[in-house]
Amino acid sequence: MLLWRRDFCSFCTIFRGMTEAHPAIPFDNSYARLPGSMHVGVSPTPVSAPRLIKVNEPLARELGVNPAALTPEVAVGNQLLPGSTPIAQAYAGHQFGNFVPQLGDGRAILLGEVVDRDGRRRDIQLKGSGRTPFSRGGDGRAALGPVLREYLVSEAMNALGIPTTRALMAATTGERVYRDEVLPGAVLTRVAASHIRVGTFQFFAARKDHEALRLLIDHVIDRHYPELKGVENPALALLDAVMERQASLVSRWVQVGFIHGVMNTDNSSISGETIDYGPCAFMDAYDPGTVFSSIDTYGRYAYANQAPIAQWNLARLAETLLSFLNENREEAIRIATERIEGFPAIYTQHWLAGFRRKIGLVSEEDGDLDLIQAMLDAMQLVRADFTFTFRTLSNGGEPEALTDWLPAWRERLARDPQTVAERQRLMRSVNPAYIPRNHRVEAMIRAAVETQNTAPFEEMLQVLMNPYEEQAGAEAYAEPPGENEPPYRTFCGT
Ligand code: AMP
Ligand code: MG
Repeated sequence: MLLWRRDFCSFCTIFRGMTEAHPAIPFDNSYARLPGSMHVGVSPTPVSAPRLIKVNEPLARELGVNPAALTPEVAVGNQLLPGSTPIAQAYAGHQFGNFVPQLGDGRAILLGEVVDRDGRRRDIQLKGSGRTPFSRGGDGRAALGPVLREYLVSEAMNALGIPTTRALMAATTGERVYRDEVLPGAVLTRVAASHIRVGTFQFFAARKDHEALRLLIDHVIDRHYPELKGVENPALALLDAVMERQASLVSRWVQVGFIHGVMNTDNSSISGETIDYGPCAFMDAYDPGTVFSSIDTYGRYAYANQAPIAQWNLARLAETLLSFLNENREEAIRIATERIEGFPAIYTQHWLAGFRRKIGLVSEEDGDLDLIQAMLDAMQLVRADFTFTFRTLSNGGEPEALTDWLPAWRERLARDPQTVAERQRLMRSVNPAYIPRNHRVEAMIRAAVETQNTAPFEEMLQVLMNPYEEQAGAEAYAEPPGENEPPYRTFCGT
């Protein structure tokens, strides 16, 4: 019988013609092949009047996807392309510190996976495509504003060089969604290395489903950490590897003033990508206590709390792996605790390496951390704009906030081997001129939602694709918000 599998049957291939030989999206769905306890088959709910807003053609090509196949009907899930096995993934998670044993994809549907041009497996997922068995009270839908915000901010993050999920398409559904107000509905097609989260591990650990956890560990190592295949203690090696990627990721966020806003364990990706752009925002004025999310009353996910929270989330991951770390539970806990306690040192290394580059250093001295901290303290004192200050310094300017700090910096630069030109080149390559400024993001969303004008979205996206180069005519995008701009607040109502 095996010989008659389709891939062995040349007659079938010919008979089925070009669509089978060259599918529009060459799906290969490894997660859907995992046991049924890990996901639920579910199709997108059709919508009445799909309209495309944007197709990310360069990303489509990177994925080996034919852009011509990315029609409005495909973008909203009205039409499934051959090879798709749509599923909702199960996961749990700690939300603001409270454990919820079942969350899952409540308004996202994984269409399938492709292996991209570089041999990397990537998920293609619809977000906002209707209810699933995990929707609970939710409508399974997304509103246009948050879809455009996620498209723009995730693509900006990618252009900044920070690991992130990507945006392949955005489309409106022609239907309304009901939040605090009535809003146009939309669907985002999201691409990720995978959508496996700390919360995915928690889902099975909470159910004491050892077999599912074992399969998940193997799947994740195969997919994200193939260099760990065959090591003596895969679970421990995996914990170390995820810690490393999270340390690197969060330090990258902090280096560009990014505040994720809702670092629940279900929004913490095992692959080390930034995922779930809900109430995220970039800090303007430097203040480590900055919080934008309207529901983050106690500042759990404030700018400077992101590293400790990443550590907290990793401790939750470690708990799910205990029985794989050692047969003796006490010993397993000892090993896990030791690892998790090592996180601050790993993070600090990444942070220091990043901020050294931001102030133009390639050499290393013991006093560098203090020098950087003194700069940040000076900025905090006068609420200097984070992005603007570093960019001004990169361009040879002298930000007013740093007048008292500059002599110490110059003294340190004298012991660094680079020429002025080399240093400026380095600094300009890590200190962006353009970030998605909150007041600009809001104006872009207002134009699209209130007047169906997506020109600001297109224009802003264009500028943000090249964040490290000043662009003629784009000066306004580099500017901090004006004095009379109201304090910025973000909402979870995605
Ligand atoms: P989030 O805060 O977006 O990370 O989502 C947390 C949980 O709520 C996840 O299980 C989501 O799938 C679910 N969820 C969020 N919004 C909706 C919605 N509109 N309909 C159904 N489920 C939702
Ligand atoms: Mg989420």
